[in-house]
Amino acid sequence: MPKKIFWLIFLNSCINPYEGILYHHPKNCEFRVLTTITILYDLAKEIGGNRVCVESLVPVGGDPHKYEPIPSDIVRISKADIILANGHNLENWLLKLLSNKREDAVYYEVAGNIEPVNDDPHLWMDVNYAKLYAKNIKELFSKIDREGARTYEINYERYIRNLDELNNFIVCVVSKISKEDRKLVTTHDAFSYFARRYGFEFVGSIWGISTEDEPSIREIKNLIDLIKKTNTKALFIETTVNPKIMESISKETGVRMGGKLYGDSIGKEGSNAENYIKMQIYNIITIYEGITKNRYKGECDGELKNIKSYSIL
Ligand SMILES: [Zn+2]
Repeated sequence: MPKKIFWLIFLNSCINPYEGILYHHPKNCEFRVLTTITILYDLAKEIGGNRVCVESLVPVGGDPHKYEPIPSDIVRISKADIILANGHNLENWLLKLLSNKREDAVYYEVAGNIEPVNDDPHLWMDVNYAKLYAKNIKELFSKIDREGARTYEINYERYIRNLDELNNFIVCVVSKISKEDRKLVTTHDAFSYFARRYGFEFVGSIWGISTEDEPSIREIKNLIDLIKKTNTKALFIETTVNPKIMESISKETGVRMGGKLYGDSIGKEGSNAENYIKMQIYNIITIYEGITKNRYKGECDGELKNIKSYSIL
């Protein structure tokens, strides 16, 4: 290979704007879906199966609160038939991009008909709300592609069975953590709905519900006081948020780091969190091990029969 071409390829691979961006492009798909976050990408793929092409705007591990669109995103928006966002001010950067969508393309907020608590957009972290997300996506796809309605229904029903198993699994693992230790401190508030559903006290976070504004010294000091007062056992970081401040808080309070969680993004290939269900399984095991210091030894795997048969694990 001539040296010049080699360097061109090398440089291109370094600045590849699509790195970490997810693609699901089955042959002859009926329509193109562009999602804001990777969680929605995964749900759209599960429901749409081979009838739907899906891509995500925010790459794996990207922070959806302060994503900075790149020029190629405009091209992707203009090609999409459906644009799926979470809504509730999670993706404020999307507004300026939407003027590039085709006139006949559909813009849809998947969490639009779910009432948020304290304007918190992270509804998907409660598996019961994820079921509503799946239902909304199924109904939207069925309306746009009537011929595929039966397929979407079958995919939806199978996925709901898996989500029910996931829910039972989380409940089972939580039951292995003593009640007074069920406390969560995370880098930002992605886990409030999760905490509420599964019986954790959400002690607090560094950033609150969005990472757009930096926390003040006073807010960090308040969090440190809360951690000490509540006798919290472990602090957790998230894959989309800078872990540095949490590490300082851990040193300051003497409370151990419990591990990293997936909130605003699924994990990359090989992370064991590369779809919504796996990410939730990964999270609850990390929370269990972080808080109790015990290794998870498969005590609740019996809840995941169906999921295993679909080779998700
Ligand atoms: Zn978030």
